[in-house]
Amino acid sequence: MGANGWSAVAGVGSTVLALAAVAIALAAYRSERRRARFESARALHDGLTTGEVAAARAITGYLHYGEFHGDSHDVTAGLNAYFTLLWCFERIEAGRTALLRDSFRGGAKGDGAVQYLDSLIAWHVAEYACGLATARRKLAEAAGRNVSDPRSTVSFGHLLHALQDGGLVDRSYQVAVCPGATCPCDCHQVSTT
Ligand SMILES: [Zn+2]
Ligand SMILES: [Zn+2]
Repeated sequence: MGANGWSAVAGVGSTVLALAAVAIALAAYRSERRRARFESARALHDGLTTGEVAAARAITGYLHYGEFHGDSHDVTAGLNAYFTLLWCFERIEAGRTALLRDSFRGGAKGDGAVQYLDSLIAWHVAEYACGLATARRKLAEAAGRNVSDPRSTVSFGHLLHALQDGGLVDRSYQVAVCPGATCPCDCHQVSTT
């Protein structure tokens, strides 16, 4: 092989090496991107179970499952807890929308990170579809006036409908109102013991 032949071989070799480097960099980028997306999903779910939201859950849990004859102090604490939870779901919905928008695959269901997030939050959303509606009703009864929350419930509604469309949450649940007889929530189970 002449000098020209060897330089052609060397040229092909360096091109192959350059392509391999690009492939490795691309694989590393995809792996890091995937890790970051799952981390975002995990952090969004963490927001539901830590800090002020965890404290708010204790109060709304009492409103959801217990008898409520609260005084004005209890009503104020209940309303704070109610809105704390709605705003938490608002942050989750915004984070989920951002993850979904940047999904490379998965169509309307999103990629693995979105599906991971949905699987983590589905039962919480189902629980609070009835729970927040019930808390809302009891707080309004105790306060003698309606709870004004038309904007605060919008994101929760988006989240609920997305999870219902994905088959992860029962279709009977509605936003801001318990559907009554058809509601699958545990709070309606009559104890037989
Ligand atoms: Zn219900
Ligand atoms: Zn319930």
